Amino acid sequence: MTASETDIIETTDLGCHAGADTLAAAASAAGKTELMAQFAEDYPKGPHDQPQSMCPAFGSLRVGLRMRRTATVLSGSACCVYGLTFTSHFYGAKRTVGYVPFDSESLVTGKLFEDIREAVHDLADPDKNDAVVIINLCVPTASGVPLELLPKEINGVRIVGIDVPGFGVPTHAEAKDVLAGAMLAYASEEIKAGPVARPTQSDTQQARPTVALVGEMFPVDAITIDRLLDSLGAAAGPVVPTREWRELYAALDCQVAAMIHPFYTATARQFRAAGRPLLGSAPVGVEGTAAWLEAMGELLGTDRASIDAAISTQKSAIRAALDNNPIDAKITLSGYEGSELLVARLLIESGAEVAYVGSACPKTEFSAVDADWLEARGVSVKFRASLEDDLIAMETFKPDLVIGTTPVVQKAKERAIPSLYFTNLISARPLMGAAGAGSVAQVINSALSNQPRMLTMEAFFEGVGDGPTSGVWTPEIIARTGVGGAS
Ligand code: SF4
Repeated sequence: MTASETDIIETTDLGCHAGADTLAAAASAAGKTELMAQFAEDYPKGPHDQPQSMCPAFGSLRVGLRMRRTATVLSGSACCVYGLTFTSHFYGAKRTVGYVPFDSESLVTGKLFEDIREAVHDLADPDKNDAVVIINLCVPTASGVPLELLPKEINGVRIVGIDVPGFGVPTHAEAKDVLAGAMLAYASEEIKAGPVARPTQSDTQQARPTVALVGEMFPVDAITIDRLLDSLGAAAGPVVPTREWRELYAALDCQVAAMIHPFYTATARQFRAAGRPLLGSAPVGVEGTAAWLEAMGELLGTDRASIDAAISTQKSAIRAALDNNPIDAKITLSGYEGSELLVARLLIESGAEVAYVGSACPKTEFSAVDADWLEARGVSVKFRASLEDDLIAMETFKPDLVIGTTPVVQKAKERAIPSLYFTNLISARPLMGAAGAGSVAQVINSALSNQPRMLTMEAFFEGVGDGPTSGVWTPEIIARTGVGGAS
C-alpha cells in the first residue's frame, strides 16, 4: 500500500518554529490522534512541556544505534538530523545514521513516504540487518507521514516505524522508552505467531528464573544485580533496551521485570501484557537494597530464609562501604536521566544532606517509593523539573555541591560552587549494592575538595563582568540593543 496525497495534510506552516500546540494539533488533524493521546498518557507534561535538553529523539536514536544488526534511519528536518547525528557521534555511536531528506513538495505530495519506503527496502538485507528502525521527527509526525503503512517485514528483516516528536515526548529518556516499547511489542507478536530464535543465554540464566532489567545502566550494576538475584535463586536477564533482537524474547520470558529506571511506561505495558509482574525502585544503599530484595524475593517466590540471608549479607557489606566513604555536604541534584532519585538515596545514606532533587522525567508508579523515602527525609522532590526550578533550588538552598545538567553546572561555577555534570560524571558510575556505595562518594568528595580552587578563580576574575556586561560590546551594539558595556 502506498501513501496517497490525502494521507498527508498541508504542511506549509509546519516548521520547527510553529510551536508545540500547532504541531500537536496538526499531528492530530493528520490522523495521529491516537498516537498523541497515548503520548499524553505515557508521558504526562507540566509544568514545562518542551524539552529543555537535547532533542528527545536522541533517546530513540541511541537505542537503535546501540543495537547490533539494526539500521536506524531518521526522517525529519535537516537541522534536527544534523544535531542528532552530531550528538550520537559525540557519544561514540560509530554507526551510520540513515537519513531520508525532504522538502515542502515531497512532504505535501507524499513523495517523502515513498522515499522512506525505498530506503527501508534498500536496508532490508537479512545478511546485514535483523531490523530497520525509522524515526519520524517533529515535522513528519505533524504532517502525518504514515510509517504504520510501511511493510512490517521485508526479506525477514523487521521494520519498526516510530514517531518521536518533541511536542509529544518531552525528554530523551522517554524517547528510549518509545523505541524499546515498540520493539517489545513487535517481538511479542512474533512470539504469539510461533517459535522464535533461541536467545543466547548463560547456563545460569537457562536454569533459573530471570529478572529483566529495565533501564540503561552502568555494566557493573547489571553484574551486581545478578549477584543479588543469585542469592534469591534467580538470575539477571537482559537489560532493556536490549543490544540485539533476540534478547527481546528473553526479556519477555522473564519472571519479573525490574523497573530500575521508572519512566519506561510503554515498555512496562508490554511486560504487563506478557503477564510479568513489575517492581519499581532499585537496590541502592542499605535501605533501598533491603527493600528491593524483600519485594523481589516475594515476587520470585523465594523462601523466607534465603531472603533474610540475602538482606543480612548485603546490609553489612553496603553499610561498611558507606561508612568507609562518607559524604559531609549539602547537595542539590537534578538531571534528565530518570535515575536522580536513586542517586539521592545513596547520597543521603552516605551522610549527605540532599536539599532538592529535580528530575525532568514524570512521576510514575515505579518512582513513588523513592519519592516517598526522600520526602520523608525532608528532601524537596520535583518531577518534570524545569531548568528554572533547578536554578531556584541552587539559589535557595545554597548547597556545597551542585549536581545537575550543563546549564545548572555552568551557573554553579559562576557562583564558585563545586559542581558535577549528572549525565557524564554520576550516571556513568555504578550505583547498585556495595559497589555503588563507594563509587559515587569518591567523585563527590573529589569535587568538594575543589572549593578553594573555585574561590581562587572567582577572585581572579572578579570585575571582569558577567551577564549583559560580559563579552565584547561595541558602541554600535550598545546603541542598538541598549545593553552591554562596562559594568
Ligand atoms: S525533531 Fe523536534 S524536538 Fe528534535 S530538534 Fe527537531 S524540532 Fe527540535
